[in-house]
Amino acid sequence: MYRRDIDSRVRLETCLALSVAALVFGMFAISDYYYTGVSTELYLLLAMRILVVVSCLALAFMIGRWGNYSRKVWLHALPLWILATGIILIVPLRPESLSTQVTAVVVATMAFYLLIPNLLPVVAIASLYLSLGFLASAVMVADIPAVVALRILLLLIMTNVVGFFALLRLEKLQRKQFALLQEERVQNHQLVEEISHRKSLEAQLRMVAERDALTGLDSRNHFMTRAQALLLRSQHENAPFSLFMIDVDHFKAINDTWGHIQGDRVLAAIAKTCTRSLRPQDVIGRFGGEEFIVALPETHLKDAKMVAERLQRKVTELPVMEDMPDHRLTVTIGIAGVLDEETDLDDLIQQADRALYAGKHGGRNRVVMSHEGRNVT
Ligand code: GH3
Ligand code: MG
Ligand code: MG
Repeated sequence: MYRRDIDSRVRLETCLALSVAALVFGMFAISDYYYTGVSTELYLLLAMRILVVVSCLALAFMIGRWGNYSRKVWLHALPLWILATGIILIVPLRPESLSTQVTAVVVATMAFYLLIPNLLPVVAIASLYLSLGFLASAVMVADIPAVVALRILLLLIMTNVVGFFALLRLEKLQRKQFALLQEERVQNHQLVEEISHRKSLEAQLRMVAERDALTGLDSRNHFMTRAQALLLRSQHENAPFSLFMIDVDHFKAINDTWGHIQGDRVLAAIAKTCTRSLRPQDVIGRFGGEEFIVALPETHLKDAKMVAERLQRKVTELPVMEDMPDHRLTVTIGIAGVLDEETDLDDLIQQADRALYAGKHGGRNRVVMSHEGRNVT
């Protein structure tokens, strides 16, 4: 996962490192001229440098395009081997500059370790090849004394050890950092999931608390909260406000005759009729068993009466009646309206309830208005 994550960065960095290395390697042609003058060695050195530079730039381009380094390790190893071979070949062609070349090998080895990201085995093998190849060609071609060879050997061993452990440490740190980041990502993901789960639970809870499961209308508590706010606003704006209490007539008989399931169907059908025949700004709640309550903002009592009568008529025309022959489904509705600023929601409900009670006593299937203490049918 770490390798996949840093793949594009590795490509870019390797590409850049190789391009810079190739250019630097090419620029050393100037020192070739200084050491050899115009000679066969210079031409050979130039040919070798051009070959190395061109192949390194071509490989840098290929790595930039196709260099998925976890699958194509050879593609990343190849330029290092080409550069190392180029450096080794300088010894037989320019043996008199051996001391400068030792420095160049040390710098190149450190550059291998530090500039090629996350490929420790590849870099280590290429560096060893460079060190051993350089030493072998120095001993064989430059004919150096044993003590100088030993000094170069020790220097190259030290360079490789320092480079190897520096890169090892760096890679370990990067992997640890990545593991921590990954852990944090997983935790963040879990947190996001937990939050959305809680939000959905909250929405479900709110739904349960605010809605009546059978009819889908506002629950009694939720109705009270919403109606209270509407009443206060109406009183503040000096606007009319009316309230219905609706009770199904002889509902017990429906349950007793056709069963509770049919009773439930009737309640749901009446709730639907209420929702359809009232305005969107009216608030409808299920107050109790077969009782409904409606708050009508900006509605005068006489208009509320018309609305209630329309609703009463619609209930008698409900299709659910087809399953209940010989039964007249009717409702009685009590209406109350705000008379002054002192009237609160409980007062209003009590007035509407008294009007409803009067309607029941008056023979049911009717709309009764509560008006300043006098109930008017
Ligand atoms: P009235 O005309 O005087 O209002 O008579 P009623 O029979 O409608 O009134 P009563 O209060 O005697 O009966 C109401 C019945 O409503 C009793 C109760 O079992 C029933 N009920 C209450 N809630 C539900 C419900 O959710 N589903 C069903 N099917 N019946 C319910
Ligand atoms: Mg009742
Ligand atoms: Mg009833």
